[in-house]
Amino acid sequence: MLDVSSLSAAYGKHRALDGASLKVAKGEIVVILGANGAGKTTLLKAVCGVCPGRVSGRVTMQGADLIGLPPHRIVEEGIALVPEGRGIFGEMTVEENLMLGAYPDRARAEAPGTLDRVYTLFPKLRERRRQVVRTMSGGEQQMVAIGRAMMSNPAILALDEPSLGLSPILCKELFRALKAVRDAGLGLLMVEQNARQSLAIADRGYLLENGAIVHEGRAQELLNDPAVQKAYLGGAAAPQPQAPPMPKPTQSPADIAAAALRGLTARAPSPPTRPTIDTGDLVARAQAASSRRATPAPVPAPPPLQQPAPPHSADRLQRILTEIEDAARRAEQYRPNMKRR
Ligand code: ATP
Repeated sequence: MLDVSSLSAAYGKHRALDGASLKVAKGEIVVILGANGAGKTTLLKAVCGVCPGRVSGRVTMQGADLIGLPPHRIVEEGIALVPEGRGIFGEMTVEENLMLGAYPDRARAEAPGTLDRVYTLFPKLRERRRQVVRTMSGGEQQMVAIGRAMMSNPAILALDEPSLGLSPILCKELFRALKAVRDAGLGLLMVEQNARQSLAIADRGYLLENGAIVHEGRAQELLNDPAVQKAYLGGAAAPQPQAPPMPKPTQSPADIAAAALRGLTARAPSPPTRPTIDTGDLVARAQAASSRRATPAPVPAPPPLQQPAPPHSADRLQRILTEIEDAARRAEQYRPNMKRR
């Protein structure tokens, strides 16, 4: 049903997902296990069309290509994401949250029937239908998040760490509920750090390390595999070698410029080591920015800046650009020394 093949994703130069391939069929739970930073969330986001990085590869749902589709179209194709942290609206009631999930075309007409099915699967939600969600326990809130995703009438539920932050009792309750969702005929693609409990309810599993799938198998086989036990089930608990986490991208122009300047000024005075900042790129950006400033038209945002400049920031931006140009000049003066080495 869901077929992922050679899926890759990169944030800048950092390749967070490296050619992952997997399948999820109707009525099965597939779990993705991996250490922190292995690329699990990136994989789910790339499948659901919400990965902020550069995504390539193939994702099909019942034969339909999903790569490049906007997230709402992917929901229409039958994939619903329950994100880490749940993404529910605390000030709204259980039923209001659930009904928000029925917004897609594929779900709207059948919303009353779907709501009834969700309440049958999660009787507690029916009891609490008028309760404001922020007053519920973590486990109950997770049920609301899953119920809301189910309201879009999906064929596949993608769940990012659904047991995160839940007590052992609530975890048990959650995994029981997920089994019930699978038994209702949905396919579940689940990222989990709770390897033991997730494998106990799963049909199959994949192990992700440094963005690549390194092993796959039936859940029971994985549970009994000594290497899996060692790495994920509290055996010798050898830490997985991981690339150091990439910093999340800075959003503000001032932050980007300040980071560039810090790196440049810190490194430029010591000739023996080559600066890690790409000064060529910096110069090109500074030149592009300064030629734009020479024109009488209003200054447009330079290319790397994704967001429009906030109001009243023109002076600040101007100052930053001047600083970049100064830094670039210093870098250019520094380069001949390096060439002589
Ligand atoms: P965890 O279990 O800790 O949530 P994960 O396996 O889900 O980790 P991801 O969140 O997919 O891992 O992250 C994989 C790598 O990509 C990490 O090195 C992370 O720092 C990096 N990364 C994730 N999101 C971004 C982003 N928006 N911008 C830059 N780098 C990112």
